[in-house]
Amino acid sequence: MATIFTRIIQGEIPCYKIAEDNDYFAFLDINPLAKGHTLVIPKKESDYLLRMEDAELSGLIIFAKKIGNAIEKVVSCKRIGLTVIGLEVPHTHIHLIPINAISDMEFSRPKLKLSDAELAEICELIKAAL
Ligand code: 5GP
Repeated sequence: MATIFTRIIQGEIPCYKIAEDNDYFAFLDINPLAKGHTLVIPKKESDYLLRMEDAELSGLIIFAKKIGNAIEKVVSCKRIGLTVIGLEVPHTHIHLIPINAISDMEFSRPKLKLSDAELAEICELIKAAL
């Protein structure tokens, strides 16, 4: 069965899409730790980054670099934190999170409650910065 992220790529489940190319896809996390929190995924299903083929993994990181740089242009932060967890969704993804302190990467913190309008606005800003 397709993962929830494959269903997002295929447009079955809506998302705030930032960018895609032939192999990779970026979209806003629905329960963000910070405004601009983005997930970067390979289109080809793989459930664990450490098991990816080298070429696919390199491509994912390079794609994430482009997206992270765009986020950094439009969200006020010290840098973009990258992390891989994958305990909830078994489809490889890198979290890109605008941070000012180490605690901003703490996933046990309550998530932000952003309105659709706020998510749409930040999505458009990041896309424009690409
Ligand atoms: P992890 O697997 O890295 O522990 O967490 C999965 C992440 O995916 C979480 O931050 C969660 O908010 C996000 N997520 C789960 N389901 C969806 C969804 O349907 N849409 C979006 N945009 N994000 C999701």
